Amino acid sequence: MTARVLVVDDILANVRLLEAKLAAEYFDVVTAMNGADALEAVQRTKPDIVLLDVMMPGIDGIEVCRRIKSNPLTQHIPVVMVTALDQPEDRVRGLEAGADDFLTKPVNDVSLFCRVKSLVRLKMLTDELRTRTNGDPLRMLGPDGLGESGRGRILVIDNRTAVAERIKTALAGRHDVTVAVDPQQAFEAFGQSEGDFELVIVNLDMEGVDALRICSQLKSVEKTRQTPILIIVDPDDHQRLLRALDMGVNDYLIRPIDKQELMARVATQIRRFRYTERLRTSVRASIEMAVTDALTGLYNRRYLETHLGTLIDHAVNRGKPLSVLTLDVDFFKSVNDTHGHDAGDRVLQELAGRIRASIRSIDLACRTGGEEFVIVLPGTDLQTAERVGERIRKAVAAKTFNAGPDSHLSITVSLGIAELASVDDTVDDLLKRADQALYRAKREGRNRVILAAA
Ligand code: GH3
Ligand code: MG
Ligand code: MG
Repeated sequence: MTARVLVVDDILANVRLLEAKLAAEYFDVVTAMNGADALEAVQRTKPDIVLLDVMMPGIDGIEVCRRIKSNPLTQHIPVVMVTALDQPEDRVRGLEAGADDFLTKPVNDVSLFCRVKSLVRLKMLTDELRTRTNGDPLRMLGPDGLGESGRGRILVIDNRTAVAERIKTALAGRHDVTVAVDPQQAFEAFGQSEGDFELVIVNLDMEGVDALRICSQLKSVEKTRQTPILIIVDPDDHQRLLRALDMGVNDYLIRPIDKQELMARVATQIRRFRYTERLRTSVRASIEMAVTDALTGLYNRRYLETHLGTLIDHAVNRGKPLSVLTLDVDFFKSVNDTHGHDAGDRVLQELAGRIRASIRSIDLACRTGGEEFVIVLPGTDLQTAERVGERIRKAVAAKTFNAGPDSHLSITVSLGIAELASVDDTVDDLLKRADQALYRAKREGRNRVILAAA
């Protein structure tokens, strides 16, 4: 991962130390040594994340954070406060000023890279969403990124009931927490939950249970793979912490648990999970929009054109037949003229349904124009395709179409069919032969199926 990090500290040695660590991991590092320079650098260099010292003369870190977070142009940039161990109240002030996370000095490498990477990933998701939503994704998720009805759904896995209850109590104000005392209960809870859990908190020190194994199971099962995991570890359990991060655990808390830190990390992980879900839905929707026809839900011409070539290649390579049907509604103009355009639209929708019901799931049905359809039948020779064409023709002619209240229309269609004839056949050749056959079907009286000569 490469990203631009702005490091702000009034002590040169601190700046140099963080700069060296980050540069060694190929981050692009920008530095500033006071609040005013930091704000200027945020504007000028558009960093992906800011590491911000709290104590600085002049504009201090808290104020810099507040200004970054109150400017609509910069508020999406994650800010990590770097606080002194003996100043826990700085964390609270930082969070109140809008900081996304904090690190404690002296900064160790594990926490530095874990937090920086996690927040940079979150920012990349936000950036992607911002471009997709043409602005501010927070609009969709509510002011704190958790949404208006934004209680998180959290599963805590821990068999030390006292600890689990303390976590549950701490989070209860903002989230709904379920506790599972062993892996079996945990997976059962996943099975039962309405909408999935948005975060799993695993205590790494359960009695008599290998908690790392639970984490690895959660990361390998389809249903739980995307759910972020936050683990709770003992300060001296460095080895297992590293192994957990290696297997994809998203973040960690060191015992004793600081309530503010718990709240901040939980909020970040849930926000990231929700952004990712949003993006996945939006990507899926735009892919669907790009390839399907809005009126009928069948594939569109663009999809046919990109896909038919692949299907032809497959057929040629495997020595399998392939046939194409073109279909056009007879006298459709008069349906519109007599009953209106909306009635015409309803006929097209019902027609699409009848076509779908007459073919296999591997066949490809497309609406290629107003009242024109193309159906691709892989593995199907001309004679079989003719039977399919007849089945569709009859399914249309046999029963009137419901075009509105008290409006039942008799509709017929004409079909032309062509079969892949040689290895040199192109998409255009095949569609052209089917179209010529369709043209003959029209000329010879409509409501019929005509086969193209090879
Ligand atoms: P033919 O039997 O020769 O195919 O006659 P036709 O009337 O179906 O042929 P033509 O191609 O002249 O007319 C097609 C009509 O389809 C013209 C247009 O009004 C109508 N049409 C095209 N797209 C749509 C659509 O999306 N919705 C509706 N309701 N009508 C459409
Ligand atoms: Mg027509
Ligand atoms: Mg037409």
